[in-house]
Amino acid sequence: MFISALELFKIGIGPSSSHTMGPMLAAHTFIQSLKHHLPQQSEKHQIRCTLKGSLSATGKGHATDRAVALGLHGYLPKEVADHDLDVLTQRIWSSSFITIHDEQRVAFCATSDIIFDTGKSLPEHPNGMIFELLDDVGNVIVSETYFSIGGGFVNTASEIKQLVAPLKMKNDASVPYAFDNAQVMLDMAEKSGMSIAAMKQTNETQTLTQQTLDDGLDKTWQAMTQCIKRGLNTEGILPGGLEVARRAKQLSQKLAAENNTNMNDWLCAYAMAVNEENAAGHMVVTAPTNGAAGVIPAVLYYFINHEKGTAQDVRDFLLTASAIGGIIKHNSSISGAEVGCQGEVGSAAAMAAAGLCAVRGGTPAQVEHAAEMALEHHLGMTCDPVGGLVQVPCIERNGFGAIKAYTAASLAMHGTGEHFMSLDNCIAAMKQTGEEMSVKFKETSLGGLAVTIVEC
Ligand code: SF4
Repeated sequence: MFISALELFKIGIGPSSSHTMGPMLAAHTFIQSLKHHLPQQSEKHQIRCTLKGSLSATGKGHATDRAVALGLHGYLPKEVADHDLDVLTQRIWSSSFITIHDEQRVAFCATSDIIFDTGKSLPEHPNGMIFELLDDVGNVIVSETYFSIGGGFVNTASEIKQLVAPLKMKNDASVPYAFDNAQVMLDMAEKSGMSIAAMKQTNETQTLTQQTLDDGLDKTWQAMTQCIKRGLNTEGILPGGLEVARRAKQLSQKLAAENNTNMNDWLCAYAMAVNEENAAGHMVVTAPTNGAAGVIPAVLYYFINHEKGTAQDVRDFLLTASAIGGIIKHNSSISGAEVGCQGEVGSAAAMAAAGLCAVRGGTPAQVEHAAEMALEHHLGMTCDPVGGLVQVPCIERNGFGAIKAYTAASLAMHGTGEHFMSLDNCIAAMKQTGEEMSVKFKETSLGGLAVTIVEC
């Protein structure tokens, strides 16, 4: 299935694409759908949202309730990125009504009408949420179930049923290079003589003008750069109660003062800058998720600023990375709640490795090899965020993801592209590992690092 680079890289807010941006979009979609279901006098009707599974387990730490309330009040992730969220949240929290389409009011209280249901997950997906409109005597008159499937993407119950049907998704005939796995992508590249970025660009321009695509990619990169710069210039304690201190600013200042040219240190500083911004609930770009939002910007920022990359390199990098991200999302998952952190930071590293290899002049086979290596060495990585916050281990983990991505791209450039394990096999291994991974390690904070901290 074709996924646009501009869908995969979405500008929004932290701390989580699946637990913040997805629920906000779902809430917004639900409220928009109500227009024809509301009577003239709707003030005694009420909206209720029930969060299930992982959204319930770690939703408080991921600010899912804030996201749902914002979405119900008509905000979308990309629109709130430049707002003062504290002020907005305070206003929403003190309100007991939602105004729909500037006309009708429905009762909604963010503190009591969002329910964290710690019972069983919905069978279709761990990130389920049920939105309901109740009449004046409490009868449910409209109900819709949504699933936040990672990266800010949302499906309704009927959509997700189609997605889980075995081998349901086939090549999308609407684009000329409809590769839905890495082998098909390589075959098409060989036959056409085109790079992965060029094939992706051709696909994109079936529905977008070249100008729209270029503007979108440039805007994505500006937002990523802004995130790095904000993170490198902000210090203090991150919200949520863990008392985790920001470190990116101090680290980058120290590196600059020492004239330090150690690539690993700089990659960590850039990646951590982004993920500290994400943890603070500020603007970030899903790459492919919020939890893993630091890897791709760090690698690309390093390449542009330390290795003199060009504006065209930025576009080619993002197009190549999104081609790989689309294949991973299509054949496995980019959601920590579904397959653990291998699907988030592992996927981000594979995408970044592919992008870097491409702009360094790698062949499609070398690009595929780079992505494979970066993903392979994240297999099995669990998602166990302490306190349900996207801070420990997430912030440092992005630094390590960036380092692995860089190493994978370099190693691939030293080879011919021929290698033992294919990217497709590696993605299949990630899927199987994720399916067999205990739910404790899939963004529930019920196992691993999340339970090894003994509270005083
Ligand atoms: S551990 Fe990984 S998958 Fe889990 S919230 Fe953190 S970054 Fe996301």
